[in-house]
Amino acid sequence: MLFVYKRLRCPICSRQFQRLDKVVLDIINTVIHRECYETTESPLLPVKDEGTFRELVATYEFFWDD
Ligand SMILES: [Zn+2]
Repeated sequence: MLFVYKRLRCPICSRQFQRLDKVVLDIINTVIHRECYETTESPLLPVKDEGTFRELVATYEFFWDD
């Protein structure tokens, strides 16, 4: 699963996710830093899950492709 950690970036701050970053997952499966989600003025979709990046990657199969 290491590829995921290298590939995914937050759409708001453009930084790569670290395993223990607090993140949210929106209803179209976009991962966003929790802090960015709470502070951005951009329009946002509802959140369906949250936790550390590591936890979400371990939970959702769509992170495991290719
Ligand atoms: Zn961010």
